[in-house]
Amino acid sequence: MGDLASLRGRIDALNLGLLDLLEERADLVVAIARLKQAQGLEGHDPGREEEMLRALTARATGSFGAFEIGEVFRAIFRASLGVQEKARRDALRVRRRDLHPGGLRVGGVTFGAGRPVMLAGPCAVEDEEQVDRVAAHLAAFPIPTLLRAGAFKPRTNPYSFQGLREEGLRILRRAGRRHGLATVTEVLDVATLPLVAEHADMLQVGARNMYNTELLKALGRMDKPVLLKRGFSATIEELLLSAEYILAGGNDRVVLCERGIRTFERATRNTLDISAVPILKLETGLPVIVDLSHALGRRDILLPCGRAALAAGADGLMVEVHAAPDRALSDGFQQLDLPSYTALVEGLGIAGTTPRAAAAR
Ligand code: PEP
Ligand code: MN
Repeated sequence: MGDLASLRGRIDALNLGLLDLLEERADLVVAIARLKQAQGLEGHDPGREEEMLRALTARATGSFGAFEIGEVFRAIFRASLGVQEKARRDALRVRRRDLHPGGLRVGGVTFGAGRPVMLAGPCAVEDEEQVDRVAAHLAAFPIPTLLRAGAFKPRTNPYSFQGLREEGLRILRRAGRRHGLATVTEVLDVATLPLVAEHADMLQVGARNMYNTELLKALGRMDKPVLLKRGFSATIEELLLSAEYILAGGNDRVVLCERGIRTFERATRNTLDISAVPILKLETGLPVIVDLSHALGRRDILLPCGRAALAAGADGLMVEVHAAPDRALSDGFQQLDLPSYTALVEGLGIAGTTPRAAAAR
């Protein structure tokens, strides 16, 4: 038998042996989780657990009875489920750090290459001259810029302006080409995807569509960059899983967009979740931008919030800009006029030498 110290020594050795076995078991759990994920199978298999428990408790003939053995193995299974879930999370394509080593290019613009990208333009395409005036203004700054405007508008009220549809796409594209700006516009459904993709350089999935898995799958099959917006009440994990749909289909050119979430707060249209920016940057290899206009729904605090977004690591900012916001057919209350856009980019310190600044010297 031996004395207490030597008995304890044998317990310590057995503990270490058990630990090694548990770790070996966890490695197998991870291997099985990966295999199941590759085959599209559900991770947790309660039937298999029951089977193993039955076999183990039937053999519990020593000092530990069936009850105790059941308790011990149930704890191991529970812990394994955690290991399995972590393995599945880590295996997501969106989590790969090497997705866009040199940044993600859209036209002549690169996201995630050190310089913040501006995605600016009116809420909606209204007519040729309206988009052209904004595009001309944006193009005057030496800032990597995408021209944004909706042609298919997902309005809350069915009687609100729904967008110029195909004509809007054509107007946006012409304005972009005229002023050397790549374009981004929203695609609402699978049916109009080929049409929108034919005209736009980047396809936007709006907040209302973040959960539209058929649309996400269709975008996964496209050879076009996607701007994926976070849903009003989507968690960061859900946004990542929506992006995963697109990457799983073979399209890894996805930019994530924090655009505010619904909370009880009414001082802003939505609540800008600034912490989402560093979290998304930490957990994914995808560029992240912040849509200030839809997050805030007001113009007077764009500059400090834009600064905060860039300080938090955002690769770009979206803002709505209109030459005459008071006459805009949608979101007039939140759109910046042209001088206010100039003030914003100058305030952010990204304007470079603007024609006006140069003239003033
Ligand atoms: C938009 O960017 O035009 C828009 C409708 O935004 P969201 O989907 O974020 O509401
Ligand atoms: Mn809008």
